[in-house]
Formats: sequence, structure tokens, C-alpha cells
Amino acid sequence: MPDRHVISGDRQPEDLQFEAGLRPRRLAEFTGQSKLKQNLSIAIEAARMRGEAMDHVLLYGPPGLGKTTLASIIAEELAVAFSATSGPVLQKKLDLTGILSNIRARQVFFIDEIHRLLPDVEEMLYSALEDFRVDILVGAGPGARTHSLPLPKFTGIGATTRQGLVSAPLRGRFGLVLRLDPYAVDELQSIVDRSARLLNAEIDDAAAEEIARRCRGTPRIANRLLRRVRDYAQVRADGRITQSVAQTALNLLDVDRFGLDEIDQKIMLTILEKYRGGPVGLNTVAASISEEPDTIEEVYEPYLIQLGFLNRTPRGREATALAFEHFKVKPKIGNGGQPPLF
Ligand code: ADP
Repeated sequence: MPDRHVISGDRQPEDLQFEAGLRPRRLAEFTGQSKLKQNLSIAIEAARMRGEAMDHVLLYGPPGLGKTTLASIIAEELAVAFSATSGPVLQKKLDLTGILSNIRARQVFFIDEIHRLLPDVEEMLYSALEDFRVDILVGAGPGARTHSLPLPKFTGIGATTRQGLVSAPLRGRFGLVLRLDPYAVDELQSIVDRSARLLNAEIDDAAAEEIARRCRGTPRIANRLLRRVRDYAQVRADGRITQSVAQTALNLLDVDRFGLDEIDQKIMLTILEKYRGGPVGLNTVAASISEEPDTIEEVYEPYLIQLGFLNRTPRGREATALAFEHFKVKPKIGNGGQPPLF
């Protein structure tokens, strides 16, 4: 089993230093997500033409797919200031008031992990996003009054890995709600190429493809694997990242052919072995592996579906013939020992 950090989409401390330098700054440099980019570029263009703040945007999708990057790209494209915070950091209404009272006209205000806002802070954000004002309490005791503070029009961008946990009223405040999907191998390959260029690392096409295939469809993991492979190439080879160097280094890290992590494997093996390929309800799978259904649905399944291992059907989750083959599980008996047809 690979070290969980290596193939986790979540940001790790080691990523911080590198990510800053690898982050695309303009929409044209941002690979993939073509439908989302089209929608965004129309909204950006329209806001620029009108000279107004752009609509609020909610970005959702598994970690490491580029939500934070897109938020800063939007600010760059609009040529406005960018400030960022996150749900867990905003502990009190006062924290939010402090930020909002410094907000500049048309700027981008980014809130990562927006599903983790506390209820009273979230409520304050409603009026900020909808009416561009916040109510603040002035004074204390019986003499205290609420003062309504007007704000300049700004663009709020929320990001979440857990769309299902964003309340309906909060979601309703965002004019654009955009989903990021795992990336295709060719897109990841060009992300690896670009990062290698920025890191001054020499890499073959086949090696870039090898990394692209094993990164769970996630640019953050691709960049992380590239760094590990580059270290290996430097220490154990002549510095050049060839396919065989990439393969050896990735095998040493226990990153398998599809970059599956422990939870991916647990989900698949539960469906394949315990429920004989399904269909099985999401909640049942979740209970079997002690994970939350939302996390499985929003963080893990998109990649398993993209790989062609899993289907969502009205009767529940079903493993595909390809999954039986990859996990070397014998398909259900009763159909001549053949993998079930889906
Ligand atoms: P998220 O906020 O969704 O967790 P980030 O925006 O922090 O993800 O992206 C993680 C890293 O992956 C960034 O440093 C960036 O370099 C890289 N990245 C993400 N999406 C892309 C993309 N489409 N093209 C190039 N690099 C990307």
C-alpha cells in the first residue's frame, strides 16, 4: 500500500513551496475543464465589458483539481485584487466582518472549504453576497444597536469538495455553480510536461504519461509524483526522467498502475467481494468501510467512475467487468462464470 500522503489529493505541507511556482496564472495556461473554462471566460468577459463585479462563483470537486488556482486566475483575468480565507479559519462573525470591511470594489474574495462555515458566520455571508451589506452590533447591553454596513460590490468565490454539505440558501447566493472533474490522461500529461519545464527537469513523453496515469486524475498528485520521480532520477540515474526511471520510482513508492489509494481499494473490494459486484446502495458501502457517504460520492467515486470501475445505477453502485479483472476477483456465478454484463 502506498504512503497515503503520496496519492492524496489534499494539500500537504510539502506541496506549498512548489505549488506557488507551478500554478497557472491565466485561463489559457489552465489545462482541461473545457466546459467550465468556457462558462468562466464568458462571465469574465461580460464583467470586464460592463466594468462591474463578476457574479459569485461556487467551485466544487475533489481536492487538488484546481479550485484555488481558478479563483486566483479569475482575479488575474479581471485585473482585480484577490484575498483568500477558508471556512475553518473564519471562526467568528467578527473575523468575517474584519475581512469584509476591508474589501475593495470588484475584488475577488475566495473562501476555501466553504462547507465548513459555522452557522452564524454563514448567515452573515448571505447578506454580504446578496445585498452587499453586513449587520454589525455596535455597543453592548441594552444600548446595543445593529448597524448595517454597506459593502462595495465584490465577487465571492467559494470552493468545496463536499457539495452535498453546502446549504441550499448558501448555494443559492452563487450565480455560477461549476463542477471540476478528474482530468484525462492526455491533459495530465501536458500538466506534467509544463511542470517539468518550470522545474528544469528533463522528461520523456512516455515518462510524463506514466505519471499522468498514476495520479488519480489529479494535477496536485501529478506534480507531487513528478517531484519524487525527479529526486529519484537525480540520485539513482543521470537526472533524466525516462519511462523506466519513472516506473521504478513509482513502484518504489507503491503507487499502482491506476494510482488507487487505500480507500479506493476498500470501496472496490467491498462492492466486488462482499456484495458480489452490486448493485449495492451507497449508504451500505459507506457503513461497511466506515466512511461518510458524501465523501465516497464526492471525493472517491468520480475517479473510479472515470476509470470505468464503477457505475452509478438507480439500484445502487455496480462494479464493472473491468473492475473484476483488475482486482482479480472472480465474478458472480450463475452466468457461466463470465463477468456480469453491464
Ligand atoms: P484545489 O484548490 O482544488 O485543491 P489547487 O488549485 O490548489 O487545487 O491545485 C493544486 C495544484 O495543481 C496547483 O498548484 C496547480 O499547480 C495544479 N493544477 C491544478 N489544476 C491545474 C490545471 N488545470 N493545469 C495546470 N495545473 C493545475
